[in-house]
Amino acid sequence: MSLTSYKQKRNFKKTAEPKAKIKLSKSNKLIFVVHEHHATHLHYDLRLEYNGVLKSWAIPKSPPLDNKTKRLAIQVEDHPYSYKDFEGTIAEGNYGAGQVKIWDKGTYIPEKFSDKEIIIDFKGKKLKGKYVLIKTNYGKNGWLFMRVEG
Ligand code: MN
Repeated sequence: MSLTSYKQKRNFKKTAEPKAKIKLSKSNKLIFVVHEHHATHLHYDLRLEYNGVLKSWAIPKSPPLDNKTKRLAIQVEDHPYSYKDFEGTIAEGNYGAGQVKIWDKGTYIPEKFSDKEIIIDFKGKKLKGKYVLIKTNYGKNGWLFMRVEG
């Protein structure tokens, strides 16, 4: 776990995004958040708390809400835990410029969490039930994100 890449991409004098701090939460429940990010292209950022950071994936279309839709999810840099509450507009000229709002959030139960496969049970408002993230050979950071059970 490292926030080096997160830090390198941002100038904290110019963005209101949280500073890079690793923080282990006091709760025994793991949290997730999905940000709706109106950047150059609208996408959704899935973030899963894991070892004090938020593992993050950018999903070009909305996350799947049924068991038929499969979405490509591109893994991006780990984000700090405190990013879970971030909403706002990242100013023009900065990395990820555009409006960011929370699309869904809640807790999740991991059934498996490896660097090739993640199986989780979401307890969100929109994301509910069992989902799988599977590493693909699409590029270096390509994963597939799908819902498998209600
Ligand atoms: Mn994004």
